[in-house]
Amino acid sequence: MQENNQTLSHCPACGENLEAQLIHGDSRIFVCPTHRRFGLSGTAIAMINGNDHYREIIGRRLDRDRNIEQERVYTSDDLNAPIS
Ligand SMILES: [Zn+2]
Repeated sequence: MQENNQTLSHCPACGENLEAQLIHGDSRIFVCPTHRRFGLSGTAIAMINGNDHYREIIGRRLDRDRNIEQERVYTSDDLNAPIS
């Protein structure tokens, strides 16, 4: 089966199975057992699926933000921003 370019099956940070929850317009909310709830825009999902570099960036961001209480929606801007 070909991977759907508009979703993610595994967490980019820890590799656990992700549960796709909700679709908010162009974005999807995922739940990782380790990194809890986070959102990705459709563009960000396509970038992550198409390029391991972006997968690594979002993985680091998820690790950095895992204790933030509020659910975050990451966009293509987050993938292109330098990691602080
Ligand atoms: Zn995770």
